[in-house]
Amino acid sequence: MSESKLSEGKLIVVTGPSGVGKGTLLRRLLELYPDRILFSISATTRSPRIGEEHGREYFFWSHAEFEQKRDANEFLEWAEYAGNLYGTPRQAIDQAIALGHIVLLEIELEGARQVARSLPDAQRIFIAPPSMQVLESRLRDRCTDSDKQIIKRLHHAELEVAAANEFDVTIINDDLEVALQQLEKVLFHD
Ligand code: 5GP
Repeated sequence: MSESKLSEGKLIVVTGPSGVGKGTLLRRLLELYPDRILFSISATTRSPRIGEEHGREYFFWSHAEFEQKRDANEFLEWAEYAGNLYGTPRQAIDQAIALGHIVLLEIELEGARQVARSLPDAQRIFIAPPSMQVLESRLRDRCTDSDKQIIKRLHHAELEVAAANEFDVTIINDDLEVALQQLEKVLFHD
């Protein structure tokens, strides 16, 4: 890896349907590169799942708090997803990139499109499931969402998979290790 690649800060957008395994993939990446990679912590109006903590997985804000910050232009992007609001607070991102970090945004399709318009230099990666059937069983197996939520998430997933060609790169998350290697290659060698 060249020295210039090591010291370059950049913004990376990672999008893919709920249940595709983005979280696991990105956590593995963070374990490998704890000093280089920073995850942006999003804000959401959805309730925390068991084990999630305010300020770690998300900032869990009320609707009113979210809307107040959105109206004050404090989000780089924001979107409604499955009945809740999600957004990327701007604060900290510019500074982290200037310091040479690779900043990762794990966001859904509408947010990725907003970033493409406002920051066209950001690299956009799509994580795709091997098939919609595999995606549905992963969503059901993780037991974190109600049936109604799963249906909403699968509907959104179809729209997202159909938009994969808008992204710079698509990685199919079939085998986690293979997907991880492909992601490393895109981040550090492309
Ligand atoms: P979950 O509720 O499963 O944590 O996330 C639902 C969806 O919201 C996922 O596709 C996730 O990538 C997306 N998401 C998380 N944070 C943000 C954000 O800050 N902005 C946008 N646009 N989507 C987000």
